[in-house]
Amino acid sequence: MPKHRVLFVTAELTPVAKIGGLADVAEALPLALNRTGAADARLMIPYYDVIREAGIETSAVLEMPVPVRGREERVRLLSADISGNFVYLLEHEGFFGHGGIYYERTGESGSFKEISRFLFFSQAATALTGKLPDFFPEIVHCQDWHTGLVPALLKRTYGEDAPATVFTIHNLGMPGRWNREEIVGFLGIPADAIPTFSAVDRHGNIALIEQGILASDVVNTVSKTYAKEILTEEYGQGLEGTLQKRAEDLYGIINGIQTERFNPATDGALVQRYTAEDAKEKRPANKRALQKELRLEQNPDIPLFGFVGRLTNQKGMKLIVEAFPRFLKRGVQLAILGTGSPDNEALVRKLVEDFPGKSAAVIDFDAALAQRIYAGSDFFLMPSRFEPSGLGQLIALRYGAVPVVRSTGGLVETVPDYTSDPARGLGFRFGPFTGEALTEAVARAQRLFVEDRNAYLALQKRGMEQDVSWERSAPEYATLYEKALAKKGG
Ligand code: ADP
Repeated sequence: MPKHRVLFVTAELTPVAKIGGLADVAEALPLALNRTGAADARLMIPYYDVIREAGIETSAVLEMPVPVRGREERVRLLSADISGNFVYLLEHEGFFGHGGIYYERTGESGSFKEISRFLFFSQAATALTGKLPDFFPEIVHCQDWHTGLVPALLKRTYGEDAPATVFTIHNLGMPGRWNREEIVGFLGIPADAIPTFSAVDRHGNIALIEQGILASDVVNTVSKTYAKEILTEEYGQGLEGTLQKRAEDLYGIINGIQTERFNPATDGALVQRYTAEDAKEKRPANKRALQKELRLEQNPDIPLFGFVGRLTNQKGMKLIVEAFPRFLKRGVQLAILGTGSPDNEALVRKLVEDFPGKSAAVIDFDAALAQRIYAGSDFFLMPSRFEPSGLGQLIALRYGAVPVVRSTGGLVETVPDYTSDPARGLGFRFGPFTGEALTEAVARAQRLFVEDRNAYLALQKRGMEQDVSWERSAPEYATLYEKALAKKGG
């Protein structure tokens, strides 16, 4: 397969501009594409104040004017090596020089200030794509609503010569919806200049994520299961009709994790490092340390269930709060780390108050404690209502915490059920989004741990031996790029 030049256009990038999973993918996928020789990938992101403050070394590339509201704004393009990636940084004091990655904490598109920041980014990225001195992208790979307009703008700007475009949906729940007239006014173009602007809702709004879905050559999301689920009303967030129109060009590719960063053999956050081979002897020290740190009874025989993630309805907090009291009364421990909505945080606080010594919650974002929970828990909970890909269960597998998950999205593909297939299973799965169904799955997990420790340890080892790296998925992206080129050509 020829090695294509790919430009990733993204709002987030680990480690300099991270809010969520998008940042991790933006870092790890280009690295894996370059490492495996599947593509020649570079990135373009705004030069936020938080990146400037990180003090990375940059080189000037070029300066050029970008049209906005009928005026011209000058942007400067810099380049930098960020963790091995070649990154173009788009500098403009007014749009990117203050306020962090997103003006709003949640990254939701609730103000025109937020929308216009990324409209400007999309316009500038489009203008610069054809001007990079030594890199002529054949494919531009856009991510989520922030860059949803890039495919249409590239087509309008470069016509037949435009690069092929791929649009990846990481979070369908954030559509980037805003009034079409205001968007058109900002861009300084006639409304009919972009054919997909006819996709307007009854309030006169367009959704930038929908623009990406409609205008790109191919669309993908981060698991095959979620790619099917979003065609339904239950998961489609109102965009199922649009996605159905693009069903022929809609693919699913599961995320991986940075296995160098998430590695129990080298992880400095752990009291005892270990591998799949010596986990049986060495891993228990991490459980003991975690029980001590969280003031739980220090007992290796009590199954410890961990949760790390956003405390939101999506992540199934209500199911945990409903299911766990009966287990906490009878020989199970629970450790929760996360921040989220006030109602979910309050529910979790109340649960742990009722069961001191048996459960603990840390309402915070703490990467090191997260690693200690992955390394010290016997089981890892992900009872999500929906889960496009999910990274938590992949980290849990790598660290030997057996996942207990709902059968949805990427969890279906990465956690085959042990009960129905003991020879290949990697965790415990359940179907309905109910406390009762979670209870039944936790009971199965507890039973295995208590009644057949050797079988549990064999399951744990099998999980640790899985390939959860990006090397597994990078070739699928190479195939997707071929499809985008063929689609554009045809
Ligand atoms: P999502 O992107 O929907 O939040 P994922 O499972 O895809 O969920 O990724 C979440 C990532 O963020 C995981 O690596 C998880 O360990 C990490 N994470 C989430 N909340 C916290 C927290 N409070 N402290 C440390 N790490 C966290």
